[in-house]
Amino acid sequence: MEGVVIRSTGSWYQVRTATGIVSCTIRGKFRLDGRVATNPVVIGDHVTLSMNEDGTGLITDIGERHNKLTRRAAGRRVGREHVIVANVDAAWVVQSVQEPKFNGGLVDRFLVMAEAWEIPAGIIINKADLIDERSEDAMDFWSETYRDLGYPVLFTSTRTGVGIPELRDQLANHIHVIVGPSGVGKSSLINALEPLADLRTGEVSERTRKGKHTTTFAELIPLGNGGYVADTPGLREYGLVDIGPAELSHRFVEMRENLHECRYPDCTHDHEPGCRIKEMVEAGEIVEERYESYLNILHSIHMGDKDVGR
Ligand code: GDP
Ligand code: ZN
Repeated sequence: MEGVVIRSTGSWYQVRTATGIVSCTIRGKFRLDGRVATNPVVIGDHVTLSMNEDGTGLITDIGERHNKLTRRAAGRRVGREHVIVANVDAAWVVQSVQEPKFNGGLVDRFLVMAEAWEIPAGIIINKADLIDERSEDAMDFWSETYRDLGYPVLFTSTRTGVGIPELRDQLANHIHVIVGPSGVGKSSLINALEPLADLRTGEVSERTRKGKHTTTFAELIPLGNGGYVADTPGLREYGLVDIGPAELSHRFVEMRENLHECRYPDCTHDHEPGCRIKEMVEAGEIVEERYESYLNILHSIHMGDKDVGR
């Protein structure tokens, strides 16, 4: 029998199969077979299992992963990685119009992370019901900026229902991660998409991670349309980017093609003369706010703050 791992609680794995959800353990040998990972089976993994007489299962094989989102394992030897979720098809960065106010710098940090993972990304602007005369122009600016770069942008409101059917269509049939800062409405969106998901939402969004839905364990929430949203406590709040300064400009889609045109091959596009990227900013070919985000992330990498999305 085959299935997808939707929940992992340490020693038990919930596997969704064609005939239902089976609680599984893994064969001891996966723990020993030399994988450099702290966790051999993760949510999103396609696994083969054999059934035990008591209705539980035994995972006997793990399918090849087409990608994996990782973070460095805390307190472990250098080089160890902690895989959070495998086989992710798309990443969605959530922001709100107000409360908290739209933050382009944070969007760019999450987009850099998605680009580093080589996963297609989109942007959800939630709390569209709060758009007023003062915020309207800014919302037009940001949505146009990101659409021009090739990222889909969806406006949603869990209050009025605007954009929810469109979002549900976007999230069908694949595994998605939803990232963004606290308070923008990630839990509310998941609840709106799939009321059975029953994530806790609240004014104090700390509650999202306490309560009965103790999401210290990662899980995939089935949306009922064949799609899954990964609820991953490690990813939701902060984009953990583990990239070096030389890689950063390659993660900005509008810079990537022109990097070889700088005078110096190791140009950081910060202070160097003959920088093609700075020329493009001056010519209006690169949006200034995006270039500022680039510099901010670059400087935070130099400061040794790799958890730049925090
Ligand atoms: P999370 O921390 O990103 O998971 O955010 P929550 O889903 O917990 O929502 C944070 C707050 O925003 C809650 O008070 C929600 O009721 C509120 N909220 C969520 N979606 C919307 C929306 O579309 N419009 C408005 N006005 N408030 C919303
Ligand atoms: Zn340059």
